[in-house]
Amino acid sequence: MELPKFQRNGHSGHCIRCITGLGPAQVDYDTSRMAVGFYCIASLDVLGVVEQRLMEHERESIPQWIWRQHIRGAYGAGFRGSTSMTAEAWLNLDNAASSRLATYNQPDLIMTYTALLLLSIFRDPFTHLDRSGLVKFIGSCQQADGSFTVHPGEGDADLRTSYCAFAIASMLEDWSSINLEHGVDFILRCQSYEGGFGQAPGQEAVGGTTYCALAALALAAASPSAPPSTTLSSTANDAVLRWLIMKQRDAAGGFCGRTEKVADACYSFWCGAALAVLGHADLVDTERNAAFLALCQTKYGGLAKAPDELPDPFHTYMALASLSIYPPDLSATQDDAVKASWKLGQMDPMLNATLETAAWARTHIPLRKE
Ligand SMILES: [Zn+2]
Repeated sequence: MELPKFQRNGHSGHCIRCITGLGPAQVDYDTSRMAVGFYCIASLDVLGVVEQRLMEHERESIPQWIWRQHIRGAYGAGFRGSTSMTAEAWLNLDNAASSRLATYNQPDLIMTYTALLLLSIFRDPFTHLDRSGLVKFIGSCQQADGSFTVHPGEGDADLRTSYCAFAIASMLEDWSSINLEHGVDFILRCQSYEGGFGQAPGQEAVGGTTYCALAALALAAASPSAPPSTTLSSTANDAVLRWLIMKQRDAAGGFCGRTEKVADACYSFWCGAALAVLGHADLVDTERNAAFLALCQTKYGGLAKAPDELPDPFHTYMALASLSIYPPDLSATQDDAVKASWKLGQMDPMLNATLETAAWARTHIPLRKE
């Protein structure tokens, strides 16, 4: 199967356009600006062009903006997604309006995870990080059933937040504020009869939350206080393995996220990375995965969720991350430009970052640095 040239300049251009502004139609994403920034800048990291595509003043001002989202309170310390829903974003507010908005001024587990990785991409020294505050924050998000709320004591609680809490604890090398046994029990209860993991107990198995479950268990297994339950039973392991492999049955070659759905580029990462975490990268049809993602490339740069759809930074990043775990075999390709175009950085599938960025996080974030 002959692959076309991978439009790496177009894809980095798409990410640069999305960093500078998404436009009024995307105002819904304003509270998650940290995550949008992560998908854009992590794409540049996988492409190996952070220094080349971002100007020096951007490489200084973006980390400064991220540090302005590092906030503290009785819950500890974490990062918020942006200032868009806080009193600082508005002029001439009366006191009542200011105090109503104060409820939005809270750190967010998902934004905190992405902020730590973003700062690692910029090789930030983490001098300003309130590490013990972060440890307290993840603990203040845990509920009695073992799950984690996205904000301290409120908001969504599902496998996405369990994964982020475990990833933050892993980067800090400090799990002391978490009841790890309860956290692992909650994850295990999310495995559905199909084999994959749903967002919460009793829900349908989905590729994204299956990745979150398996990566969280693998991160926990590496902690000194890991309970034996972090290792799946052989029945549970076989069931999730079978479910994941069956997700690459789409005629186009990509992965779908749920049984009987069509392929979507983000599941090339969610399901593909989940298989890599399980130690079964050999069961992915790498060539067909790359052929599907090649079709998701769009004319003016960026990758879409499926062929003939519009691109976005999330699917662009997920496709790049998948290709970095599963690079296509181009040994039979004669064209050196095509070969070079598909070359990407290597990924750490558990933290969802390039090996260099994950190593930076693991060296500079641990609590022992304080
Ligand atoms: Zn998708």
